[in-house]
Amino acid sequence: MDKTIALEELQLHLDFFKKMYQVVRIVDPTTKKVLNYNDKSIEYTDGICYSYWENDSMCENCVSMRAFFSKDTVYKLEYLSDKVYMITAIPIRSTDGLVILELLKDVTHTMLIDTEDNEKAHNIKSYISNMNDMVVKDPLTGLYNRRFIDERLPVDIIQSLLNEKPLSIIMTDIDQFKAINDELGHIEGDSKIKQYGEILKSSIRLENDWVARYGGDEFLICLNNTDNDTAYSIAERIRKKIERDMSLNKHGNINITGSFGICTMYKEEMTAEDMMKTADNNLFIAKEKGKNIVIR
Ligand code: GH3
Ligand code: MG
Repeated sequence: MDKTIALEELQLHLDFFKKMYQVVRIVDPTTKKVLNYNDKSIEYTDGICYSYWENDSMCENCVSMRAFFSKDTVYKLEYLSDKVYMITAIPIRSTDGLVILELLKDVTHTMLIDTEDNEKAHNIKSYISNMNDMVVKDPLTGLYNRRFIDERLPVDIIQSLLNEKPLSIIMTDIDQFKAINDELGHIEGDSKIKQYGEILKSSIRLENDWVARYGGDEFLICLNNTDNDTAYSIAERIRKKIERDMSLNKHGNINITGSFGICTMYKEEMTAEDMMKTADNNLFIAKEKGKNIVIR
C-alpha cells in the first residue's frame, strides 16, 4: 500500500518534527546523499547519510531503502556512542521522485537503558546488532538474504551508473542438489549449502562485494567495479574451488559442483530485475549445457 507523503505536506510539519527529534533529515537512499530542503524544493548536498553512524560503508540494514521500496514508514534501532536511537524513515513524494525523511530520536533514557552499566550497555548493543542482522541475513549460511538483494542491488546499480564503473552479478546454483539431499539426507544437505556459501564468501573482496543466498541452493554474488572478463575469471575460480573442495565425502559418491550465470552492466540502464533475469538465463543455459560451467 502506498503510504507516501507529499513534500508540501512535509513542509507544514518540519519545524514541529524538529522539536521532537534530535535529527531531522531528508535522504535519497539510492545515492545515499543527504538533501537540503529549501522552500518547497530539495537539493543535493555532499553529505553521505551513513557517515552519521561513523560507517565507512552503507548500512547493511538500511531502513530508508526499505521505506523507499515498501512506500511505507519503517522503524529500526541503532546504537552509537553509548546511545540507542530510534530511526523512523518516512517516504516523501517530491517532483524529483521519492525521498526519505529520517527522524532520529535518542531513546536511551525512555527505554530505561542505564548505559553506565558497561555489561548492560554491551548486551544492548549486541541485541540491536543481532536484531538488525536478522532482518538481512539468512540463518543457515549467515550470508545476506533475498531482502538484502532487493534493497542493495538497486543501490549498487545506481552507484555504477553515477561512477561510470562496470557492475557484475553472478547467479550460482548447486548442481543436482535434490540427489545430494536424497543421498546424504537433509541435515547433511544443509551443511553442504553452508559450505557452498562459505566458499563463495571466501572468494570475494568483502570490502567491495557481497554474496547472498537467493533461496534454496541458489546464490547471488555482486561484484562492484568489475567487468565481464574479471567476473568470468572469478566465477571460474570459484567453480574449480567447489569442484575440488566439495566433492566426495564418506557418505556417498556424489561430486558436488555448481553452475554459474553472469550479467554485467556498464553505462546502461538495467534494473535489478533485468540483471537478475539475464544472469538467471545464463545460469539456465549453463544447466542445459551439462552443468558445472560458467556462462556469461
Ligand atoms: P539442478 O542441477 O538443475 O540445479 O538440479 P537440482 O536438483 O539442484 O534442482 P533445484 O536446484 O531445482 O532444487 C534445489 C533443491 O534444493 C530443492 C530442495 O529440495 C532443496 N533445498 C532447498 N532449500 C534447502 C535447504 O535449506 N536445505 C536442504 N537440505 N535442501 C534444500
Ligand atoms: Mg540446484
